[in-house]
Amino acid sequence: MAIIIDGKNLAKNIRQDLKLEADKLKERGIIPHLAVIMVGDNDASKVYVRNKSRACEEIGIEFKEYILPSTTKQKELLELINNLNNDRKVNGILLQSPIPKPLKIQEAFNSISPEKDVDGFNPQNVGNLCIGQDGFIPCTPLGIVIMLEKYNIKIDGEKVAIIGRSNIVGKPMAQCMLSKNATVTICHSRTKELKKELKDADIIISAAGKRNMVTADMVKDGVVIIDVGMNRNDEGKLCGDVDFENVKEKASYITPVPGGVGPMTIAMLMSNVIKAAKKQNK
Ligand code: NAD
Repeated sequence: MAIIIDGKNLAKNIRQDLKLEADKLKERGIIPHLAVIMVGDNDASKVYVRNKSRACEEIGIEFKEYILPSTTKQKELLELINNLNNDRKVNGILLQSPIPKPLKIQEAFNSISPEKDVDGFNPQNVGNLCIGQDGFIPCTPLGIVIMLEKYNIKIDGEKVAIIGRSNIVGKPMAQCMLSKNATVTICHSRTKELKKELKDADIIISAAGKRNMVTADMVKDGVVIIDVGMNRNDEGKLCGDVDFENVKEKASYITPVPGGVGPMTIAMLMSNVIKAAKKQNK
């Protein structure tokens, strides 16, 4: 039976270390500051933003929320981002996705100053990750790398299959694994033989957003399973993409949902804000 990776506890330890770093910055008169923009009324986004705000409070990061109506025009959104780019108090800017349809989210990400882009979605940071230069790495993939490293799970030379090719998870995840010398396969909705691709993998990272997508017959013995998916089961409870109960019998390591990748994502956001505050106050 697999070792259950405790993302909740790992994230707690990371937040404690970050609090010490924030305290040191405070001694120098620097209070790290995160600005979060939310457009429209999305219940899931409200929960995510509340969790981010709590983590900021715990660490000593100033958190400011900008809630815009769903009728907001692209120009108004870009103006707010521009103001935050120019506000010296603000170290990190996060635009919570999704935003209402007519608005162009990538254009908004493009306008966030790369130095304040703590989500790592600005093309400059995307490029930095691709060529191995320092920058901001998207929080979910970064959290997964740290999680694997903390559990001493070998990445170098291993076959990693990633399900999902989004700009937020799948693509940066692939870059992170490549930079750690893994052989990477990216699977997506047009992949012809998903089972064949997964069966060969030493590490599977699933970010499809589909419950029971990965079942025990699709994985090899001893596989490492990282479940990014956030779905609801028939009882309305949070669950991942993986058939946890059956797959854990074959895997060597597995992340639960909740308590796996989610808390690490928030911890990495906090880490990126502290990094931004330090860089901006060299
Ligand atoms: P997305 O919808 O943008 O991407 C989903 C990807 O899955 C797509 O690339 C698609 O091609 C692929 N896919 C869908 N069906 C497939 C199939 N049958 N076979 C193979 N591939 C398939 O989603 P996203 O933003 O990347 O998020 C993915 C999931 O991860 C969601 O459930 C989201 O809620 C969750 N998520 C969790 C965290 C966290 O911190 N825990 C962070 C981000 C996203």
